[in-house]
Amino acid sequence: MDYVNVIVDISHEKLDRVFQYRIPEALKGKLEAGMPVRFPFGRGDRPMKGYVVGFAGTPDYPPEKIKELTGIVEGGVQAESRLIALAAWMRETYGSTMNQALKTVLPVRQQVAGKQDRTLCLNVPKERAGLLLEEALQKNHRAKARLLAALLDGGGRLSGQEAARLRITGPVIRRFEEEGVLRRETQTAYRNPFGGQFQRSAAIPQLTEGQRAAADGIREDYERGVHRTFLLEGVTGSGKTEVYMELIAREIARGRKAIVLIPEIALTVQTVRRFCERFGERVSVMHSRLSEGERYDQFVRAREGSIDVMIGPRSALFTPFSQIGIIIIDEEHEGAYKSETAPRYDAREAAAFLAERDGAMLVLGSATPSVETAYRAREGRYGWRRLTGRIGRAVLPQVEIVDLRQELKAGNRSIFSRRLAAAMDDRLKKREQIMLFLNRRGLSGFVSCRSCGKAVKCPHCDVTLSLHGDGSLRCHYCGYRIPMPESCPACGSPYISGFRAGTQQIEREVRRLFPAARVLRMDYDTTRTKESYGQILTAFGRGEADVLVGTQMIVKGHDFPNVTLVGVVAADISLYAPDYRAAERTFQLLTQAVGRAGRGAKAGEAVIQTYMPEHYAIQAAAAQDYGAFYDQELLYRGLMGYPPVQELLGVYLTAPDEDALSERAELLGRALRAETATGLQVIGPADAALTKKNDIYRKVIYIKHGRKEILLGVKKKLERRMETEDGWTNVRVQFDYNPMQAF
Ligand code: ADP
Ligand code: ZN
Ligand code: ZN
Repeated sequence: MDYVNVIVDISHEKLDRVFQYRIPEALKGKLEAGMPVRFPFGRGDRPMKGYVVGFAGTPDYPPEKIKELTGIVEGGVQAESRLIALAAWMRETYGSTMNQALKTVLPVRQQVAGKQDRTLCLNVPKERAGLLLEEALQKNHRAKARLLAALLDGGGRLSGQEAARLRITGPVIRRFEEEGVLRRETQTAYRNPFGGQFQRSAAIPQLTEGQRAAADGIREDYERGVHRTFLLEGVTGSGKTEVYMELIAREIARGRKAIVLIPEIALTVQTVRRFCERFGERVSVMHSRLSEGERYDQFVRAREGSIDVMIGPRSALFTPFSQIGIIIIDEEHEGAYKSETAPRYDAREAAAFLAERDGAMLVLGSATPSVETAYRAREGRYGWRRLTGRIGRAVLPQVEIVDLRQELKAGNRSIFSRRLAAAMDDRLKKREQIMLFLNRRGLSGFVSCRSCGKAVKCPHCDVTLSLHGDGSLRCHYCGYRIPMPESCPACGSPYISGFRAGTQQIEREVRRLFPAARVLRMDYDTTRTKESYGQILTAFGRGEADVLVGTQMIVKGHDFPNVTLVGVVAADISLYAPDYRAAERTFQLLTQAVGRAGRGAKAGEAVIQTYMPEHYAIQAAAAQDYGAFYDQELLYRGLMGYPPVQELLGVYLTAPDEDALSERAELLGRALRAETATGLQVIGPADAALTKKNDIYRKVIYIKHGRKEILLGVKKKLERRMETEDGWTNVRVQFDYNPMQAF
């Protein structure tokens, strides 16, 4: 590589411009992405600093016009360097422009002026001030007199607000300043989103034996260099957070920083409270709901070293810490850790990259680990620790599976089975609370049979077909399509249709059956405003309602000790999602939902309604048995060649012109199939799950292979092809590794 690409400034506006320089002989092989470098810039060859963002073998400009790099900026690795290196890695791994990658990792760039606290200070001895006060009184200079009197009263100091309250104007202050009677002190008050709200509390619980073993085991493995990444597996309430804090405390004691990722902004407050109670003021948050100023200040505080623990969703990974000691990813299985815009990075992989660079520890925590993570833990690539059982008195609930096919046979067409309705009646009488959960994830027009419970699936991909507007059923992986059948292909029953039950229907049904019950509903509609989410949960927590009806939002992280019944209204919906993670999602959601019952002293019960009571995801969730689920799921993944057994790369094509898109997609498909030597499996092209969005048509091709490097190689080849071949200007291509959602 003879040429290097640099960016001059890391403020938004100038990111777009990358400049190219020749690498002097002495520096060849010594440069890395992210390094700060010096070079001559502009017409006058002004000395300038910037960062390396990439390399080139051949120049993009006439070689005689390219100047030579001056040298490397001395002095340790800076936070920015690490983040720019991360951007370069993201670009390489996930396929995006460098610009998109830089904007992702350097989100807060614009300086937003901090709130300035102003203090006026007396600059002359008290006696002199006393004389000046007398003089001002004599001359009837009232503002001056008020100011001097206040300064003398305040021991020589007066706050800006106080001066304003005394109606002392700017010119008066300036005159005194010029005369040397007083001086102004300003101080930047950093905006702290949780400033002083939560205090450090003295009590740190003694870890249980299990927690102690987990924390010590992780630390020992890490220190002996056995593992860097760990899976901490344990149900909600098993004490994982205490283990995280124990590991973090040790890193802080060594002068290193911690990043704690949580899946949802909604969980921030409760997490921050726990961490502030343990680590005090040196805890902060970084997320998109903060004002720009607040974000900027957290950024500055982190860089200055006045924060030890940063908490937030996946973007908190981009905190400019000088040295990271530990990264925690709580609820690591959550889809939110995967970015759905380019670069489509996975925060777990990005965290591993950062951890590797800083020699930091990475801890993935979950009650229901993602199949990939569990696979790596079982293969010994990750350290693996488990916490069993809940802390304290709370026990896991009794779970019952109800077969909805039997309800139909018995003539019950209500949304609620007889079992669930009876249990609800019982709890309402006992004045205990109920949660009704409708899992709408993946509700994308599938067709299923109410007699036998089967959904119509693709014979090639074993994922559910989706119903389209023209009445056809289609596979979003391979493009297979059939007309909507009139009767169930499996059992011949005419009760085959799309599934239609929403949270509103459930709420209505509760009111119809139990007119006296007080019902709250939480779904997308009722949580549009920033506060509504918290308001609904608070009201329910205070016992202002008997029943909470909701989507997956209600199953996350909240403890309601008086909830003794959880009803899962239609467990199958997510099972029918048109992607290979459908069973995994279903298992996770059901486990979480069931776990909501009986968090207090009273025992809990859960009722799962389903058309597929024999499905392993439902059976395992009812038994709260992760291992049983994992074994079955891995068989399926292996059989069908899905991750983690095989690696999957989604190639997403979009274009405003449908014909051009089809032509390009076919072309790519043929080119990929011609790559037979590497043993690639190519699926598609097919219409995307969303065939058209904002008048842009979408198609997908999936590629499978056992090794990720092979897929990376293919991706590079495609990228080069699109740069050099005609016809790609109006067709955009994006890549997605082990996709979380159907495109
Ligand atoms: P998780 O993160 O696995 O959901 P937590 O760490 O939040 O579990 O623990 C669940 C509850 O038990 C919390 O209220 C926590 O304060 C409490 N707890 C955890 N560990 C201990 C301990 N060793 N002694 C007493 N209480 C504990
Ligand atoms: Zn059927
Ligand atoms: Zn298919």
